[in-house]
This record gives sequence, structure tokens and C-alpha cells, in this order.
Amino acid sequence: MWAERVIGERRMRQIQRFARNAKLTVVCLLLTVVVLRGTVGAGRFGTPQQDLIELRQHFVSHPHRALAEHHDARSRVSSAITTTTSSSSSSSSGRHDDEPDPPPRSLRDPPYTLGPKISDWDEQRAAWHRRHPETPPFLNDIKPRVLLVTGSSPKPCENPVGDHYLLKSIKNKMDYCRVHGIEVFYNMALLDAEMAGFWAKLPLLRALLLAHPEVEFIWWMDSDAMFTDMAFELPWERYGPYNLIMHGWDEMVYDNKNWIGLNTGSFLLRNCQWSLDMLDTWAPMGPKGPVRIEAGKVLTKSLKDRPVFEADDQSAMVYILATQREKWGDKVYLENGYYLHGYWGILVDRYEEMLENYKPGLGDHRWPLVTHFVGCKPCGKFGDYPVERCLKNMDRAFNFGDNQILQMYGFTHKSLASRRVKRIRNETSNPLETKDELGLLHPAFKAVKTST
Ligand code: UDP
Ligand code: MN
Repeated sequence: MWAERVIGERRMRQIQRFARNAKLTVVCLLLTVVVLRGTVGAGRFGTPQQDLIELRQHFVSHPHRALAEHHDARSRVSSAITTTTSSSSSSSSGRHDDEPDPPPRSLRDPPYTLGPKISDWDEQRAAWHRRHPETPPFLNDIKPRVLLVTGSSPKPCENPVGDHYLLKSIKNKMDYCRVHGIEVFYNMALLDAEMAGFWAKLPLLRALLLAHPEVEFIWWMDSDAMFTDMAFELPWERYGPYNLIMHGWDEMVYDNKNWIGLNTGSFLLRNCQWSLDMLDTWAPMGPKGPVRIEAGKVLTKSLKDRPVFEADDQSAMVYILATQREKWGDKVYLENGYYLHGYWGILVDRYEEMLENYKPGLGDHRWPLVTHFVGCKPCGKFGDYPVERCLKNMDRAFNFGDNQILQMYGFTHKSLASRRVKRIRNETSNPLETKDELGLLHPAFKAVKTST
């Protein structure tokens, strides 16, 4: 039922966004008429329905080629609308640097690739490790070396207070990672202008996998996701045979093809050839412009309950898994035993109840590892939820997590709504005798597990 709620709200947001863009659309439609007069007459196209069926048939084997064959002028115009309204990041950064953006990749252009094909990464990486025994990929029998990767746009937030929330969010991640022996990389560079927005993580992940052979897993986490359980250690032993771990449900992805059957806001990717291949398969729907728009149509048609909008990385992942389960499924673990990603709408109102009944370290509905503000866009102008509601609840999530950190030092926030803190224990002349209740200051797992 929470899923229905998310879908319902997503739909509403789509409608609201549509209304906002209506004026622009009218202008663009006028333009469309002018453009279409010159191109549609050629009679290359069947009905939209036929186009779509053919697209769907071709997409799995030759995603981009299929799109290229079905390019039409309509998508160019809708792309102009999308670029103006939602992908302002690259267009305005181009302006700032005094360099005009190149025209977007058309459906006739060669398919997008993340870079030269690499086929022997496992061998290359294994050889590197033989030369560098000082940085083994595992810190002990089960704990892999992990790099948490997150990031945000190179530009200041359109809504200035958004930058403050980005700061809170990275502070929150630094705290979790310090306690759990995880390195952090914060990216603010758009590595590939075509892959702006939620697709920016793909070129970044590839570059980092290749540059960090010492790292066994990259943990991608969105900037709008925060740790709310500072004590929960991931169950690494569970993931031995898997290369990609996302929050989700097998049934919703493989049987129902539901576009929210998994979430790509917080996931683990193993550093191996399989992951490079997966990124290569994942990327072709990403380039902004006509490609992303046409791919969005395929995704909306193929996936359950997906609203009409351009291709997003999450839907593309559901699509790949649902249509090519035999190729990828056995290395993908869809985790729902705890909140590797947790939808904020069902968690933020329950923090007080959790505080009353439970302790950190559970990670699940009783004390969620991650609270993810899906659709909030605190940095942009066009969020899917009222910005006040988002910010208020982001403060609550931040303070909920921060209390678990401050507690180590003898403080706590006065309430989940307050920036202010109070002492929770008196200073003594024997500071080392104070009990570290959650074991976060000097985590027991480090001592125990590294000795194995
Ligand atoms: N992102 C980025 N650079 C950009 C835009 C976005 O690194 O220029 C990252 C950022 O971490 C963001 C994530 O992409 O959290 C996904 O976007 P968002 O969280 O807004 O999508 P949602 O979770 O709401 O679907
Ligand atoms: Mn997000």
C-alpha cells in the first residue's frame, strides 16, 4: 500500500509539473508546428502505437539503434521542453563558461557509450592486487573495502537553502562512514554533459571503479538520502555471491515490472567486469535530449504504473532486470531485510515511536538505516513535494541520525525539530569511564573482526 502512495504522489507531481510547464509548452507547440511541417510529410512513421511496439522489440538487443531508426521531429521538440525545464544544470553551466552546449545526441547518432570497451577487468584488477598486497580488497574475512560515493550539481542550488541541506547530508554520511571504516568520495563535476541529472552517477561510477582497484564495493548514495541508523553494519556475508545490491523486491521487479520495484538512490556495486558490463548496458537510455525522451516512452509503456516522463536510471534498471533476468538476475540481490533505501514518506512521522521502543542497530522499519527524500529536490526549484514539508522532515531525519553521533560526546538535540542541543550527561574527571552505549566511538566490530 505504501507503493500506491508513492505512485499516487508521483502522479500528482507529474500533473503539477505539467501545469507549470503548460505556458512553455504552448510556445513550443507553436514551434512544433513549424518544425513538423517540414518533416512529417515524408511519411516514415507508422502510428505511435506501431512505433512503440517496434521500439520495444528492438530495445533489448540494440537499444540505441532501435531508437535511431525511429527518430522523429516530435521528440526533438519535447526534448527542448525537457531541457529547458528540468536539465538546466548543463545548459546554464555552459552559458557561464561561455561555451554553448553542443546539440543533443539525436536518434540517428551512434549509441552512447561510457568509454572504450574493457573486457579483462577482473584479470587486470587481480594483477594489480598481486602488485599491491598492502591494500587488500577485504579488510577481514567478510568486510570489504568500501568507497561511499555521492555528489551534487556543480552549480549552487537554485534554492539557496538547498546548499545547507547538501552540507547536512554530506556531514551525515561522513559520520556514518567514519564510524564504519568506509571512505567517502563527493563528486561535484559533471563528467559527461550528456548524462546530466540522475544519470550523472553512471560515468562517475565507471571512472571510480577503474581508478580504485583496491575498493571491492562502491556504495552509491543520493545526496537526498541520509543515514538514520549510525550503528547498523551491512550484512556483508550475505552478499558474497552478488555484484549489485539494491533495495527492492524480486516479485515487484521480475513479475510485475513495477518501476518502483527497486530504488537506485542507495546501492552497492562490486568492482568487477560484471559491473562494467552492467554500466554499459544501463547507460544507453541516459543521454539527455531525444534519446532520453524516446527511451522514457519505452519505459512507460513497458513498466507498471510508470508516469509519462523521460528515461530515468531507476526505471531503466527495472527494465533491464525484468527483460534480461537470465543474463543479470543471478548476480543481483534485491534487499528488503532492512532499509538500504527507505522512502521518507513512511518513516519520518514514526521517529518518535522508534525512539520510544527501539535502539539503533536494527536498520529496518524499527530503526531505518537510510531515509531517502525521493522527489524532494531541496536544491532545485521544482520539487515534487512542498519544499517546506521536505526541509522540515530532512531536519528531522538529520537530527535523528545526528543524535546517535552527539550522544557519544554527551549531547543530544533538544528535539528532532531543533538545531539546538543539550547535555545528556555530566562531565566527569574520568572521561574514559563513560560508557559508549552504541559502541560507535571505538566500534567492537573493528577489533573483533580484524583479528580474524
Ligand atoms: N546528482 C549529481 N549531480 C547532478 C544531479 C544529481 O550527482 O548534477 C545526484 C544527486 O546525488 C542526487 C541523485 O543524483 O541525489 C539523484 O537525483 P534525485 O535524488 O534528485 O532523484 P530522486 O531520488 O528524487 O528520484
Ligand atoms: Mn534521491
